[in-house]
Amino acid sequence: GRHFSAAAIPAPNTQPEVHYNKLFINNEWHDAVSGKTFPTINPTTGEIICHVAEADRADVEKAVKAAQNAFKLGSPWRRMDASHRGLLLSRLADAIERDVLTAILYVFTWWFMGRYLCLCILFVFRYYAGWADKWEGKTIPIDGNFFCYTRHEPIGVCGQIIPWNFPLLMQAWKLGPALATGNTVVMKVAEQTPLTALYVASLIKEVGFPEGVVNILSGMGPTAGAAIASHMDIDKVAFTGSTEVGHLIQQASGSSNLKKVTLELGGKSPNIILSDANLEDAVEQSHFALFFNQGQCCCAGSRTFVQADIYDEFVERSVVRANRRVVGNPFDLKTEQGPQIDEEQFNKILGYIGSGKREGAKLMCGGGVAADKGYFIQPTVFGNVQDNMTIAQEEIFGPVMQILKFETLEEVVSRANDTKYGLAAAVFTKDIDKAHYVSNTLRAGTVWVNCYDVFGAQAPFGGYKASGNGRELGEYGLDNYTEVKTLKLQIKHSIL
Ligand code: NAD
Repeated sequence: GRHFSAAAIPAPNTQPEVHYNKLFINNEWHDAVSGKTFPTINPTTGEIICHVAEADRADVEKAVKAAQNAFKLGSPWRRMDASHRGLLLSRLADAIERDVLTAILYVFTWWFMGRYLCLCILFVFRYYAGWADKWEGKTIPIDGNFFCYTRHEPIGVCGQIIPWNFPLLMQAWKLGPALATGNTVVMKVAEQTPLTALYVASLIKEVGFPEGVVNILSGMGPTAGAAIASHMDIDKVAFTGSTEVGHLIQQASGSSNLKKVTLELGGKSPNIILSDANLEDAVEQSHFALFFNQGQCCCAGSRTFVQADIYDEFVERSVVRANRRVVGNPFDLKTEQGPQIDEEQFNKILGYIGSGKREGAKLMCGGGVAADKGYFIQPTVFGNVQDNMTIAQEEIFGPVMQILKFETLEEVVSRANDTKYGLAAAVFTKDIDKAHYVSNTLRAGTVWVNCYDVFGAQAPFGGYKASGNGRELGEYGLDNYTEVKTLKLQIKHSIL
């Protein structure tokens, strides 16, 4: 996402009209069956932007019916050529691009996603558009007189539950592979960020996806989300969010219909700086690794391990960099850090800062509230952090950096791996042998070497251990939305 220059970004519209605030089912806008709505809040001010329909079990029921209908044999979606599915996905990307460039949609992403990321979602849709007619089965030479081949078929109705930290990007990661492979979707978006997803729903209709293929619900986790996870007619559920809720999703599958489950959960990713690294670069990248998106990143480099001989200088320079970080109005192009997503996260982060101080970490800078309204927190750096401290173990999801000291490579790898998580990791060094040693021994789904948060639609992303199940993006991402059917045909050689 950092490859776009600020000059290419249009000025955000600070007074956007809210176009869509209802549930998107069967290509139509519906009020909730209960008639309930909930407020969506501007985190910069704490004020209400508008009210949005609140889906519950009955609305999930309607959406599942629509998705089942759209998936019926002989339906327009099932009869559609794979190449045409790809075309619809690219048209969707074009429509999103058109509206991003006229800033209709852009303004909502500005707050939550950083400046450049919303353009990255186009890459995801276009990448999966290309896959639609290239996801081929195999012919397999089994023993005997048989012709054996596989077909890649869609799984069916897919439930997708997404978080608030990258609302449009998470929507793209989920919709791209599901639609390229011919599934239908019931998506529940995060209650903190419903508006962009509903706007994209309008574009899904505009570009010509048949009714019921994509259904998008705004609503709460324990009601609408739980109804998806335990639904008997949903064939698969994909979830991104907290590890805590990940457990619930997997349990709901186990106690309902054993729907397939993929999970992208939390992390406490180690970022390891060896003493031979380019110090200036490592400081800057480690700052970015933690503070990007207000620290609200599942793969944030939230345990920065620094080798002893450069530790003091690294901490000092990290503090200088954090103090330079521009916190403020997210509509201002100079701003590097906006507000946290909501009051709950804001309070949770301040609680973690308190625990760091109580448990004996050294507060090097920040530590407090950064504005008198909205949910702004000062960029915060803790030194002398020990492995057993709460701030070194739990996901803070905020602008709070933990810097830990290590002596040897063996030691740092074992400490880095001593966590229930395994989402991502990084190592900074000029020594290629050390880079290989560390990256091959870390138990994490992604390892960055001399960089951080480098993503591509083409490369898979996902977690080891309690950080998840399955991979998103790339060719691997298609597996999560595919049933493999094996066919074996007898061949008669003696027909004459
Ligand atoms: P969450 O896991 O509660 O929310 C993620 C999504 O799951 C939302 O759409 C939510 O409505 C839904 N959900 C919540 N409870 C559910 C349930 N019982 N059944 C089905 N769906 C349910 O995350 P949160 O409360 O917004 O944030 C809490 C913490 O989660 C954060 O502090 C952070 O540590 C972590 N988090 C991680 C990611 C990530 O990308 N891995 C994203 C957001 C939050």
